[in-house]
Amino acid sequence: MDYDVDVAVVGGGLAGISAAISAAKNGLSVIVLERGEHSGSKNVSGGRMYIHSLKTLLGDRYRDAPLELPIKKETFEIYTGNNKASFSFENKDTENSYSILRSRFDAWFASEAENLGVPVSYSTLVSGIDREDGGLVVKSDRGDIRTPLVIESDGAAGFASRYLGIRKEKAFKMQPVKNLQENPDFMPKQFMVGVKEIVDKKPDADYGEAKTILGLSNGVKGGGFAYTNKDSTSIGLTLKLDSLEGHSEKAFNIIEDFREKLGIEGKLLEYSAHLIPFYRFETLPARYADNLMVTGDAAGFLINDGFTIRGMDNAIESGRLAGEAAKKITDSGDFKDTYIYEQMLEKSFILKDMQAASRVSTLFGNERTFDAYPKMMAGILERMFTVTDNPRENIKSVLMDEIKKNNIGYYTLLQDMLKVI
Ligand SMILES: Cc1cc2nc3c(=O)[nH]c(=O)nc-3n(C[C@H](O)[C@H](O)[C@H](O)COP(=O)(O)OP(=O)(O)OC[C@H]3O[C@@H](n4cnc5c(N)ncnc54)[C@H](O)[C@@H]3O)c2cc1C
Repeated sequence: MDYDVDVAVVGGGLAGISAAISAAKNGLSVIVLERGEHSGSKNVSGGRMYIHSLKTLLGDRYRDAPLELPIKKETFEIYTGNNKASFSFENKDTENSYSILRSRFDAWFASEAENLGVPVSYSTLVSGIDREDGGLVVKSDRGDIRTPLVIESDGAAGFASRYLGIRKEKAFKMQPVKNLQENPDFMPKQFMVGVKEIVDKKPDADYGEAKTILGLSNGVKGGGFAYTNKDSTSIGLTLKLDSLEGHSEKAFNIIEDFREKLGIEGKLLEYSAHLIPFYRFETLPARYADNLMVTGDAAGFLINDGFTIRGMDNAIESGRLAGEAAKKITDSGDFKDTYIYEQMLEKSFILKDMQAASRVSTLFGNERTFDAYPKMMAGILERMFTVTDNPRENIKSVLMDEIKKNNIGYYTLLQDMLKVI
């Protein structure tokens, strides 16, 4: 088969643009197919990017990126009923992560790829991929592209893998949700829904603050966040899809309530919602197949270890590695040998960090994390900060009593604590 390009990238988000930049820097001809009107128009993040991967990909050029504020303050807030416990940590020297606005950032990122000569074909919906003569034919509403290699960067739903029949999630025990694209391969257990608002509220400080918030998702398993930008504040919730399903409230109402409870006032500038992959290391979908490498959310590379939520740095790094692997595969001429990419992933921080976070992430699947533990903590703090005519209770007996009151078994508590450490 005659090929149109060395590599076709499906999806022009962070993973796809990173893959395109990396492949182009390695001398390959690349095209990016993106269904949105521009990069960033369909993309949603809470908005905090750990920038190490961006630096690795772009070197000093990362300084031109439209980043918002460096995050120098971390706050955890836990709400139970009328109680709120919070904890803050400030480090004025750090520049490890920045708040970002995806519509601005992604558009700039795509222009970096275009400056390297990569065509980004917008408003182009990839609707199928066929195998033909040892290569692939990528079908879209703008015509077909013949290529020996596809880098899949089409986000959490991972359509390209599904077109090629390599997602095998039917093996999991969860019942499929029929109304999700009517595709039986979508397992609600493996996804969260992220809802996000950008509010016209300027921060007081000239550095950014990241808040992680528990207990304000109206009984749906999940957590909240708030990040300050230069001229606005991003807030949102990440909600487990299997917990949201059948809940009486819609995600939109839950976030409206969330904003009200946080007391964040200001004009609503933007509302968006998006799927988020929720895999553990052990249940990740296939990352490579003949002629195909899967990157970013499509590969399930989302890490939540309780302290950090990271999809963007993983997307950029996996894209970079796929671009480098594409060069090696093209040089060898064996387009089935995408295992090269898997080997690179194994050496990278992505799979190592996913593996390390695997045990903690099981905590986000259980009820105790969102109900019993916050109540237990609030109960302990309330009693320790209260003085009455009765003899003062010691912390050990308060702790034992609150564990019992919240129906937490000692063995379960110990097991959960071991997962965290
Ligand atoms: C509410 C929310 C909060 C989050 N907060 C954070 C955070 O603070 N920090 C962090 O690091 N991560 C966060 N994440 C995760 C992060 O947004 C993702 O991990 C990241 O966007 C993944 O990038 P990607 O390029 O793989 O996918 P995406 O950004 O989803 O890009 C996929 C692209 O593929 C295109 N596409 C899809 N299908 C097709 C098709 N058939 N044809 C053509 N194009 C197609 C889409 O239009 C899109 O542009 C958050 C996610 C959500 C939803």
